[in-house]
Amino acid sequence: MPKASAKGTVGCILVLRFCEVIVVGILAFAAKDNYQLVKLHDQLTKPPHNKNVLLSQELLYAGSVAAFGWTFLGFTLLLVWKGWAIFWYGLVDLVLALVMIIGAAMQASYLPATLAKCKKADTWQVHGDYPSFFALAASYKSRETANDRCHSFVLPWILGVVVIVFQMLIAYIGIFCDIREYSLLNPYRPFAWFVMFVFGAPYWFACAAVRRSRFLYRLTKKVARQLRGCKPIEFEKPLKYVPNYNGIKISNPKLESIFNIEHLLLPIASNLHYNDLINLSLTSKSVRESVFPAGDYEHRVRKLKAYSCSLDTKSCCEYCNKQVCADCTQAAKMPGLAGVRHLQLCRPTCTKCYFKSIRPGIRRTAIDKRQCRCWISDASTLDHWICPGCYVKANKNYVELQAAREQRYKNQLREYAQGVGLQNERELECRTCKTDMRGGSVRWWVCNRCFGECTSHMHPAHARVTAPRDLEKGEDGNADGPKISWLKVFPWNQGH
Ligand SMILES: [Zn+2]
Ligand SMILES: [Zn+2]
Ligand SMILES: [Zn+2]
Ligand SMILES: [Zn+2]
Ligand SMILES: [Zn+2]
Repeated sequence: MPKASAKGTVGCILVLRFCEVIVVGILAFAAKDNYQLVKLHDQLTKPPHNKNVLLSQELLYAGSVAAFGWTFLGFTLLLVWKGWAIFWYGLVDLVLALVMIIGAAMQASYLPATLAKCKKADTWQVHGDYPSFFALAASYKSRETANDRCHSFVLPWILGVVVIVFQMLIAYIGIFCDIREYSLLNPYRPFAWFVMFVFGAPYWFACAAVRRSRFLYRLTKKVARQLRGCKPIEFEKPLKYVPNYNGIKISNPKLESIFNIEHLLLPIASNLHYNDLINLSLTSKSVRESVFPAGDYEHRVRKLKAYSCSLDTKSCCEYCNKQVCADCTQAAKMPGLAGVRHLQLCRPTCTKCYFKSIRPGIRRTAIDKRQCRCWISDASTLDHWICPGCYVKANKNYVELQAAREQRYKNQLREYAQGVGLQNERELECRTCKTDMRGGSVRWWVCNRCFGECTSHMHPAHARVTAPRDLEKGEDGNADGPKISWLKVFPWNQGH
């Protein structure tokens, strides 16, 4: 085995340090500028932006400034003390490289990899109505566009990668510098190759296996949720109203005789809102019996709904599903409902398509990288146009009202995962390959607004197999499946 040359080691390190010094100098100043900008404006580090922005900028800044100082100090020290000291210099270089590697790796999750991608800086990783990270950062500087800001963040990152390569080379040459023939740290010993193998092989293995392990990890989480099972959501069903005819006293016979005649009641209803009719029926037992007769309840509800409220703007209250129109609703200021967002935006994807969306390699891309963060937009308060009854509840305690509504949405999302309640008897299909989604499989959800995976637990992890309908028995569908729409449990909708 050849003996290593001490002169060669020193020469290599000096040349590398000489080449590195200008790059590391530019990096240190650029990183300082970015770090100070992020530190001054904490809006840049709050959701929806990456939570590690400040830490990652700080690590690259601290690493590069220390490396800049160390380049001069290491250069001088190497000329004064050689021999075993070179090993310790190598360790310092290794530590500096590791600090910068951690910083740069964290930055990679919110910065584009190349300067060319800065053309899309305005729309880079945008969530809802929030401006992109670069647009927001540019707004703090006068006469700067998002594109310029993107350049000033990406360029230091690229320089950082160059400096890391230099540092790793210097550290390698420094640590494996022992000139003794049988030393473990002799650069010509197979041990050096062994170390390369120890660090290199896991990297290559990770690139190849990381996709499967990521998929398996997420699949295990879904299966664990499936095994734990879905807690059944119970809703209180209102008891059917059975009037006690003996106890009914008629206080105003003339008025009630008008209500009893449907031809007279319906024109009156056409000038009222549905909510007014309910309030009218609550005035006395006899009036209730005239307006909503127990014997003809379902037909009467349907007719009264058709006649009451303004025809053009008829809809249902978002919270209790009672019929309302533009004139009888009131605006309550409340945060958005997560359930509405999931129901409108999240679509299922089959396991095959989901696996394909995870690209091989360490770096995460597309659906795999972008977890849906649209929940951030739920927090902003908006006007909810709701019925007077719910408006009163909202003013008292909207958290309770919304929690109850979210439970219903959760149930509705479970039904949706089973393919229940789709329009035109359609089957639930994969958003990518359009094949039918059968029961008995794991459900993956992708948000159609941000194209990230939605991992919210409001979506069920799994859809069970539904029993085929037994038409001979006159079954409409699966007996214990959620075939009855949740809307039916509201008292004022039983006539639907
Ligand atoms: Zn109305
Ligand atoms: Zn309501
Ligand atoms: Zn969702
Ligand atoms: Zn989303
Ligand atoms: Zn598919």
